[in-house]
Amino acid sequence: MDADCLFCKIVAGEIPATIVHDGDGVLAFADVNPQAPVHVLVIPKQHVADVGELAANPAAGTAVLTGIRAVAEQLQLASYRTVLNTGGESGQTVFHVHAHVLGGRRFGWPPG
Ligand code: 5GP
Ligand code: ZN
Repeated sequence: MDADCLFCKIVAGEIPATIVHDGDGVLAFADVNPQAPVHVLVIPKQHVADVGELAANPAAGTAVLTGIRAVAEQLQLASYRTVLNTGGESGQTVFHVHAHVLGGRRFGWPPG
């Protein structure tokens, strides 16, 4: 755990969140500022900063992918968008890697 990390504090239960899925090495919870009818964040319980570090932690990477599938099945999302922002210019604001799972509406391409 990183003592200064917002999402580590959610994993530790120190900051409340609406938990959607609590799995082996993975936690999924509702985004506090939803951008779609469904907007869930899927994170490894282990502190991993971004996709680059996730690639070096295969167990955490697998946990995130498994968590995405679990959320989609649980919420019966036939179609959904996943986003992993990496670096400030992409829009990453929390440096504990997280997959956004967005659903319940149509999405445009390319993304803004
Ligand atoms: P990023 O911009 O890093 O890709 O995504 C960070 C996400 O975390 C944002 O969509 C933001 O709404 C969400 N977020 C920020 N603080 C909190 C919080 O305290 N609780 C929850 N559930 N989501 C948060
Ligand atoms: Zn963290």
